[in-house]
Amino acid sequence: MERQIYQARWVFPVNGPPLEDGIVEIEGTRIAAVYGGAHSRAIDLGNVALVPGLINAHTHLEFSQLRAPLEPAAPFTDWIRAIMKSRFETEQPVTERIHQGISECLSAGTTTVGEIATSEESLRLFNADSQVPRAVVFRECLGFTPDRKAGQEQVAAEFLEEPIRPEALQRLFPGLSPHAPYSVHPDLYLNLVQQARDQGVPVAIHLGETSAEYDLLERKEGAFVDLLSELGLWDPEILQDGMRMTDYLAPLAELPAALAVHGNYFGPPEWEFLQGAPAISVVYCPRTHHYFGHPAHPWLTMIEQGINVALGTDSRASNPDLSLWKELLFLREICPQVPTELILECGTLAGARALGFAEETGSLEVGKAADLALIQLPEEAGGGTGSDLLLDSRSDVARVMLNGVWIN
Ligand SMILES: [Zn+2]
Repeated sequence: MERQIYQARWVFPVNGPPLEDGIVEIEGTRIAAVYGGAHSRAIDLGNVALVPGLINAHTHLEFSQLRAPLEPAAPFTDWIRAIMKSRFETEQPVTERIHQGISECLSAGTTTVGEIATSEESLRLFNADSQVPRAVVFRECLGFTPDRKAGQEQVAAEFLEEPIRPEALQRLFPGLSPHAPYSVHPDLYLNLVQQARDQGVPVAIHLGETSAEYDLLERKEGAFVDLLSELGLWDPEILQDGMRMTDYLAPLAELPAALAVHGNYFGPPEWEFLQGAPAISVVYCPRTHHYFGHPAHPWLTMIEQGINVALGTDSRASNPDLSLWKELLFLREICPQVPTELILECGTLAGARALGFAEETGSLEVGKAADLALIQLPEEAGGGTGSDLLLDSRSDVARVMLNGVWIN
């Protein structure tokens, strides 16, 4: 197979500094060389940047048909009520909605996703098609009352036995997602984490998304007690007295990979724990975080402490679209002091680490899969370094390559 050789105004390998007039060579499905300079046979892509395919570490593709985030955004428990209602109102088949979400991810330059699924359909779709992002599909489990435990453990076990085609084995993995502390019985949580550990698969859980979670765990009061009571699910005996968020983080430390999704309200106790638990990554969903109006997210503090922070869009129920690229532009806008390279790393290599794909993708390194996003840079901006230009509000994803093949 002939080698593909591309020249771009800027190449961002992520594992090293940006390269002006960079060359990326691709042999088959793999990256064969990355350097600054020239090559007589290179195809000049023009005023563009090549970056690793973006990694959306947290989404729920089954909500991809929504045209606008659900309301109200606050209080959070009212948004939960809205999403429960929305599930019953959707007539479009789930497979169509997931397909829609996959297409949207790809056109936004996303080549790897951490998908939360409420059925086996999503895993089957990712398994059946070859032009789809690499993925960890986490089966969501919900059940706050003890009577739900056995059924949900069975659901999880069956999901982990779903067959995966040999062709998809390198790019598709199952995982488990106990939903959140307010929706999963503590024993069910521990049993699901144990199942994941036994099978060597990752776990994702929504954690520290709202301050109301702390009210529930530490004092058994607040908005989640009201919500659970309204649903006829509240029993104060379910939770031990004086629980801590770190009680939920601790079991995750023994897994090959785990995602603490959101961590909006994580503070020193959680940070300290995470520093000693390198298998656990935090997934920050910037525009979803903004939609709910939470105070500033501690992502930079966590990165300074050596904690791996990946990025996600979450679903269209709390975000206007599924573009991870727009998450990067949003971070540039709200945190102008943060280096472009750091923001890009969160949306690429950190996501690959979080999902267990770091050997395969997340940076433009020789031997890794040729997953690329091609970013059109603003035309009139003549000067400036690649770092100045990349996250300019006018930059946009123009094309995406998956395993050495341009798919749009
Ligand atoms: Zn979520």
